[in-house]
Order: sequence, then C-alpha cells, then structure tokens
Amino acid sequence: MKLTQDNYYSHDTDFKYMSVSIFKDFMKCEAATLAMLKEDWEPNRDNTALLVGNYLHSNFESPEAHEKFLSDNKKFLYKYGNPEKGIKSQYKQADSMISVLDHDEAFRNVYEPGQKEVIVTGEIEGFAWKGKIDSLVLDQNYFCDLKTTADIHKGIYDPEIRRKVPFVKAYGYYMQMAVYQELIKQQFGVECQPFIFAVSKQDPPDKMAIDFNSVDDGYELDDALEFIKDNQERVWDVMNGEVKPKRCGKCEYCRMTNVIDNFTHASEIEVD
Ligand SMILES: [Zn+2]
Repeated sequence: MKLTQDNYYSHDTDFKYMSVSIFKDFMKCEAATLAMLKEDWEPNRDNTALLVGNYLHSNFESPEAHEKFLSDNKKFLYKYGNPEKGIKSQYKQADSMISVLDHDEAFRNVYEPGQKEVIVTGEIEGFAWKGKIDSLVLDQNYFCDLKTTADIHKGIYDPEIRRKVPFVKAYGYYMQMAVYQELIKQQFGVECQPFIFAVSKQDPPDKMAIDFNSVDDGYELDDALEFIKDNQERVWDVMNGEVKPKRCGKCEYCRMTNVIDNFTHASEIEVD
C-alpha cells in the first residue's frame, strides 16, 4: 500500500505500518487503541491542541496548505463556525506563535528551507514503520520537528523514575526522533540529525531550538529504539487478533466498558 498525504492518518494504513503515535497509544492501553483502530470506539478528546498544532504546521508548509486547513476546519476555528464572526481566541494565540517564529532568524534559516511533510517508510527489525517529517533538509543532513507545548520549562512527572522530566522525554519525542532518523536513513541513505523547534502557548510565546547532541540524549535515543524492538512484536500480535489486548483499567475506554466481576481488596487498589 502506497502512503500519500490523504491516507497517511487513515486507520487502514495503521494496520500496515506502525507509527510512533499509535505505538505510544498501545503502550498506554492496548484495549483502547485496538478499539480505536477498528473504529469500534472514538476517544472523546478535546481536539483544540491538535488543531493549534495543525494551524502552525500548515502555515509553515505553504499558503495553499494553510488555506485548505482553514476551510476544512471552519466549524472548529471560527466563532459559530462562521469566518465572518472572527476566529476563536485559541487560534488568535496560534497566530501570535506563528509570528514569533516568523521573526526568529534561526527558525527562518533552519526550519523554513526544508521540504515539508515528507512521508518516510522503512523497517525496524522486520516490522514496517511510517513517519512524516515536518521539515527535511537532506543536503545538510538534518530534519526538524515543530512542537507546540504549554510551557517549554514545565516539568512533567514521570512515574517510572519518580521525578519531573522535560516535555521532550515525557511525550515520547526521543522515540519519535529516533524512528524518524532511522526511516530517513533507510529511505534516502542519509544520516540526519534531529532538531525540534518548540514554541509555547504562553503570552508572549516562548521558543527554543533543541538538538539531541549530548551524551545523555544519545542514550535516550538508543533506549527509545530498544524499547520499540522489545515491544513491537506484541503490538502487532494484538493488532492482528492473535493476542487478547490488555486493559489498562483506568482510561476513558476502560472505564466505559468496565464490568464488576470480582471484589478488589481495599489494600490492593492500584494508585498512580
Ligand atoms: Zn484503558
């Protein structure tokens, strides 16, 4: 199956190629993710953050892409779904994030020249993966990802190591960068270094150019690929119906489909 801009996010292609976002969803809850992929259930997500992200991405992709995004999402972006009534305040904020990046010389020089939304595919230990590169500059051996986040400096609690970590680690961006680096290498034969341009949703927005060049970043990137290698076979078995999906027992889907079939000892209620 050939991946295109139109089918990249469709669940049909999700059953052929693993993506970092679906893999991360599986690590949170197998039952919920499988139900979502099979379109048995749709998460009740607030899509504002996603739309703000797409608002920025389409703006830096091309004027045509941005126009198409605005017209495809009229009912979410504008007051009463009507462009004449003006854009909602969250998306005015997106305009100020765009302006901050537009006026930044490093962003203009590093991010803007790249080829945008490049679809890449490849294999990790025999399993097919897909990725979409925000901005790829092959002849200078790097690629960039654009991230919007509430606050670049806000620590996010990591229950595994019991301390706060930066958003890059908390949201699995090491994994994303490691996979993209590998897929670019397989598709184009070029070893590219990853960069993230982050812009915050604060007023005024903060911004940062992030590389992965420290020794610890190297360990994190390697660990992320190892984690995938250790867990991907099970994910495919669950997707193919060979193994029953595990329920996390806590998410929206698990709560919705929860049936009491036994007593839980008071002393053994799981807590985060
Ligand atoms: Zn769950």
